Amino acid sequence: METFMSNRTTPKQAIELEDKYGAHNYHPLPVVLERGEGVYVWDVNGKHYFDFLAAYSAVNQGHCHPKIIAALIEQAQKLTLTSRAFYNDVLGEYEQFITSYFGYEKVLPMNTGAEGVETAIKLARKWAYEIKGVAENEAKIIVCKNNFHGRTITIVSASNDPEARNNFGPYTPGIITVEYNNIEELANALKDKTVAGFLIEPVQGEAGVIIPDEGYLKKCFDLCKQHHVLFIADEIQSGLGRTGKRLACDHENVHADILILGKALSGGTYPVSAVLASNEIMLCIKPGQHGSTYGGNPVACKVGIAALSVLRDEQLAENSARLGTLFLNELKTIQAEYPELIKTVRGKGLFCAMVIAEHKGKSAWEVCMELMKNGLLAKPTHGDIIRFAPPLIITEEQVMECVGIIRKTIKEF
Ligand SMILES: *Cc1c(COP(=O)(O)O)cnc(C)c1O
Repeated sequence: METFMSNRTTPKQAIELEDKYGAHNYHPLPVVLERGEGVYVWDVNGKHYFDFLAAYSAVNQGHCHPKIIAALIEQAQKLTLTSRAFYNDVLGEYEQFITSYFGYEKVLPMNTGAEGVETAIKLARKWAYEIKGVAENEAKIIVCKNNFHGRTITIVSASNDPEARNNFGPYTPGIITVEYNNIEELANALKDKTVAGFLIEPVQGEAGVIIPDEGYLKKCFDLCKQHHVLFIADEIQSGLGRTGKRLACDHENVHADILILGKALSGGTYPVSAVLASNEIMLCIKPGQHGSTYGGNPVACKVGIAALSVLRDEQLAENSARLGTLFLNELKTIQAEYPELIKTVRGKGLFCAMVIAEHKGKSAWEVCMELMKNGLLAKPTHGDIIRFAPPLIITEEQVMECVGIIRKTIKEF
């Protein structure tokens, strides 16, 4: 075996290295990428693809957005990390920016999405004991079936996906699961006076872009208010323009008590997550009770400001709404042409999915392999579902080109 790395790694080499030296906790499509710009990524052979996963919606602003990269480089050359043991001259600016952007009193900065969710759960529990008056160690969090909130022990304790949870026990107690998009089940679960919060994805991403009925989120929010329970929105994937609004909750004018953001909060450059809440909730956590070495570091702060500015200045939510409608209509046309292969299509903004009729549960993977050959990258989720979620900077022309690729691929089947 070669012990040196040539300037040009072949795809085979790159895949073998990952296979040999990396943990096998992912199953990627066999494409090795080396460059990205806007809606495109290039593999090591120079072939380009439309990126219709956008790193699970972390790259809503497009790959290597020049304004975000400029902010990253500029701050990286000045000051990268102080820890929160000292003040720095960027954190306060970012905190003011993001709280006024989303209309909250306070923000708690973290790094990954899972840390954001953990923070929200900790906040909700603390609030339950210190404000609501729940007896010690009795607080409950209600979650929805088929959720995806990340990979920590507590979060997988709240999952019903055997892949995510099996053999990772013992599990964190205090979790109640209700059916998604079922208001009666939530109403019933809320009768328990020890409930601190209801944690929900306004659109379930990993479950396959599951969009609840219109009015469901508002009803959940109102029920939570009635029962003095915190409504906690995990908008890590559904937020930041993905569904055609700034947040998916904005479709129903719901202002979550606790809002969790991540992924596109850095435009795919750096792990940045945030938890937003009121003073009443956020001030339950006092110095020394929660934190993160990298949380709120100067680079993350500057990148966060740039990423949110790009979303607003380039009107990416509006673009997502407009082109999402166009794209979904085209997908519906394709579905009508090939109903035996495509079970259904659905979407909200540029957050779309196509459900492939099962042939031994493997066909969505094969469709993605063919899409890849034809120049479009997408990944199956939950066996038979293909998610289509391109960067939100995509143009109408590019959407139509991609519709052509999808139609051609489906036709070949
Ligand atoms: C990706 C995701 C997370 C976890 O984010 P990480 O950065 O991978 O920890 C949590 N919730 C939702 C809805 C997500 O899509």
